[in-house]
Amino acid sequence: MNMATATTEVFTVLPTVDDHHHDRRRYPHGVAFMDGQYLPMSEAKVSVLDWGFLHSDATYDTVHVWNGRFFRLDLHLDRFLRGVEQLRMKLAVSRAEIEAILNNCVALSGHSSAYVEMICTRGTSPTFSRDPRQAENRFIAFAVPFASVANKEQLERGLHVVVSETVRIPPKSVDPTIKNYHWLDLVKGLFDAYDAGAETALILNVEGHIAEGPGFNVFAISGGSLKTPGFGVLPGITRRTVFDLCAELGLPVSATDVGRDELASAEEVFITSTAGGIMPVTRIDGNPVGAGQIGSTTRRLVELYWQKHDDPAWSTPVHYSR
Ligand code: PLP
Repeated sequence: MNMATATTEVFTVLPTVDDHHHDRRRYPHGVAFMDGQYLPMSEAKVSVLDWGFLHSDATYDTVHVWNGRFFRLDLHLDRFLRGVEQLRMKLAVSRAEIEAILNNCVALSGHSSAYVEMICTRGTSPTFSRDPRQAENRFIAFAVPFASVANKEQLERGLHVVVSETVRIPPKSVDPTIKNYHWLDLVKGLFDAYDAGAETALILNVEGHIAEGPGFNVFAISGGSLKTPGFGVLPGITRRTVFDLCAELGLPVSATDVGRDELASAEEVFITSTAGGIMPVTRIDGNPVGAGQIGSTTRRLVELYWQKHDDPAWSTPVHYSR
């Protein structure tokens, strides 16, 4: 199918999101693209026979739009396309077509700040074969309102986090550098956090060091230097952005082992995600981080991070009308 034609044709037939007001509580206001069409979120559904649903056989990426601009879209596309290739999937759309589709999902949704996801699932096989090579891979994209790991209050006072005993699925089982939906360990961590009266969790790598949390990486600051786990984690784009910001600010930063004790004794801690950016942590396992307040280095990084969202070197505009 010629995607360029499909994208223009469907512009004229898309039901307006107003037609779907009744679904607002169950579905966020947004627009999805699947099987060659743009749809309201309430209509974007996958088959229960899709390997993505049955076996978590999928990869995805999430980029955000802030004030009408994509943030570091190229890096997200690089990571997504690498994942697709490593999982031996094939996309029916090119990189340029994906970019156009993501743009159109945001433009049709009308959001100026959005959470934009691109997904490739193994799909289904026309003969229901158990051989993954026979499945027809499926590309899906959608744009919904901007989402954050931390809410406004948590961003203002810092998140309360626990270190769960849960171990992240080993990299030799599932490669964490390919963004994936293997979240049972992360969800278990979340329940451990709720049981302890905290808001989110960090889980461990197979060596017992800190790994990452449900949808985020973590940084600890001690003696003016920053450290983030180097092994067994998704190389987050926000994490990478922190490296770039540190280079600009002349702050030393390294990706290496981060022990539980080191995290507990850090002066400042923050987590990073496309869903929320750089987010301060002020309590770990019930104890204050440093003085229990958001630290000055974290504040500087948060400010510079959001400033970069208008900078053409770091962001690209959404084209809302054609
Ligand atoms: N780690 C995991 C497991 C994630 O799912 C995510 C994002 O969803 C991250 C880290 C943060 O990555 P990014 O900064 O690219 O959003």
